[in-house]
Amino acid sequence: MLILMAQGATRDQIEKTCQRIRDMGFVPHEIPGSMRTAIGITGNQGALSPQAFAHLPGISECVPVSKPYKLVSREVKPEPTVVDVRGVRVGDGSCSIIAGPCSVETRDQTLKTAQVVAASGAKFFRGGAFKPRTSPYAFRGLKEEGLRILDDVKHNFDLRIVTEVMDTETLPAVAEVADVLQIGARNMQNFSLLEAAARLGKPVLLKRGMSATIQELFMAAEYLLSLGNYNVLLCERGIRTFETMTRNTFDLSAVVMITHHTHLPVIADPSHAVGIDWAVPPLARAAVVAGADGVMIEVHPDPDSALSDGQQSLTFNEYSKLAADIADLAAWTAKHR
Ligand code: PEP
Ligand code: MN
Repeated sequence: MLILMAQGATRDQIEKTCQRIRDMGFVPHEIPGSMRTAIGITGNQGALSPQAFAHLPGISECVPVSKPYKLVSREVKPEPTVVDVRGVRVGDGSCSIIAGPCSVETRDQTLKTAQVVAASGAKFFRGGAFKPRTSPYAFRGLKEEGLRILDDVKHNFDLRIVTEVMDTETLPAVAEVADVLQIGARNMQNFSLLEAAARLGKPVLLKRGMSATIQELFMAAEYLLSLGNYNVLLCERGIRTFETMTRNTFDLSAVVMITHHTHLPVIADPSHAVGIDWAVPPLARAAVVAGADGVMIEVHPDPDSALSDGQQSLTFNEYSKLAADIADLAAWTAKHR
C-alpha cells in the first residue's frame, strides 16, 4: 500500500502516519515528491486495509500497489530518481559514460586508459580489481593492489570509480575506493551482499543476472531500497538466449521497460551484452536513443593483450569516436524524451 499525503500535510502529520505504520509492525518509507509526500509500506504479508489509516489527518489517498516490487516502482515514486555521485547526476536526463578496462591489469594500462576516458568528457571510470571469472585459472584481478591503482585514478582525474564488489568480506576495502559499488550479474541475487551494500548507503550499480527476468532485477533492487538506499542504478548487460553468434543477447527492451516501470536510472552495457568490439558502438548508440541514463563501455590500450574481455574492448580511437557520438545522441535524446 502507498499512502499519499495531502499537499499541505504537516511534518507532524507525516510523522504520525509513519508511527501508525510502525505500530502495526510494518516499515514506513517516506518518499518526498515535488507536490506531496508519499509513504510506502513494506513488511506486510497480505493487503492492508485503508481503514487502518482512515482516522489520521493529512492523508489524501491510500493506493494499493499492484506489483510485487514496491519501492522501485513508478507507482510509488513517479518522479525519476537522480543519483548524485560526487557532484555528477545520473538520471537527470543526461547520459553518463562509464568507461574503462574490464580488469585493472597494471598501473600503466589503467592510468593511460583513465587519461583517454577523462579526455573524452566521461565522468566515470570502470575497472575490476576483484574479477568474477568462469575459470578459476583465468586472471582474477589484482585485488587490493588493483584498488590502490583505482584510488590513484580517483585522485588524479575528474573521474568517479565504478568497481565490482564480489563478496561481503571485501566490501569494506572496495567501498573505500569505489564511488559506485558494482554488483555483477553473477551476484544479482546474492541477498546478503545486497543487504550489506545497501547499509553502506553508497550508490550501487546493480547488473541484471544473465538469466534473470526484468522483474527479478526489480526485486533484487527492492532489497537495496527497502533498507533505505535509493542510490541505485540498474544495468542491462545482456541475457542468455539460444543465440550463439553473440556473447549474450542485448535486451534493449529492458532499457525501455526499466525506465517505464521504475524511477531508477538505467545503464546499458553493450560490451558484455554483445561481446564483440565492432558491434559495441552501434548498440551503444541505440541504447542512448532508447533513453539509457548511462552507457558502460570497455576500453583497453591493446585489446589483443587484455587479460579479460579483450574481444569486446574498444581501442582508444574507437572509444573516443564513440564517446563523441554518445554526447551528440544524448543531446538529441534529451530534447525528445
Ligand atoms: C564486468 O562489468 O566486468 C562484469 C564482470 O560484468 P557482468 O557482471 O555483467 O558479467
Ligand atoms: Mn568485462
